[in-house]
Amino acid sequence: MHKMIQNCINDVWLKRKEEICIKKLMIRRKEPKMKKKILISIIMVMSIIMNAGVETYAYNFNGQTVPYPNNVKIYIYASASPWAGTIYTYAQKWNECNEITITSGTTTDSVILFYGDYNTSNGTYGICVSVNSSKSNITFYNAFTQTSSAWRNETVVHEVGHALGLAHCNSADNAVSVMRASGFNNQAKPLSDDKAGISAKY
Ligand SMILES: [Zn+2]
Repeated sequence: MHKMIQNCINDVWLKRKEEICIKKLMIRRKEPKMKKKILISIIMVMSIIMNAGVETYAYNFNGQTVPYPNNVKIYIYASASPWAGTIYTYAQKWNECNEITITSGTTTDSVILFYGDYNTSNGTYGICVSVNSSKSNITFYNAFTQTSSAWRNETVVHEVGHALGLAHCNSADNAVSVMRASGFNNQAKPLSDDKAGISAKY
């Protein structure tokens, strides 16, 4: 009888032990779930912050639109001809965009026309002026001839970007755009933000 009771107590005790064990197991199982939940909320908060940051990742447009992006003709007037090689090579860097094909044309079929005004020393390398919404004049000034070839090349890419319809990028995107309002990236080609802009436009 005593043994029986003892066994019974043992049984009860074992059962309690089991229960305790089960509870402990459940607690252990719950812990990773809690950690997961916390981790998920951290990731969610981070992605919200990152998305808010992405908002500034944006090219800007001006009023220009070339009518046939896959057939953009450019013409270099005699005044810009000393830099014809540079102009052709770096204007055509925009051909790295799937939507754009730039080739040389005539005065009548070209939508981007190049001029040189090397007597003007206004501290500006070049300027892109709209003739109408599809046609632009690009003029290079004295500073263009005086600067390094790297900056000259990047200036050509930048001005052609204006003629294709890109305005200056937000300063936050300076490192990923040739359309920065000031300074150079020393990369004379359309960068990721510029390509995204051209893709969105055409
Ligand atoms: Zn500009």
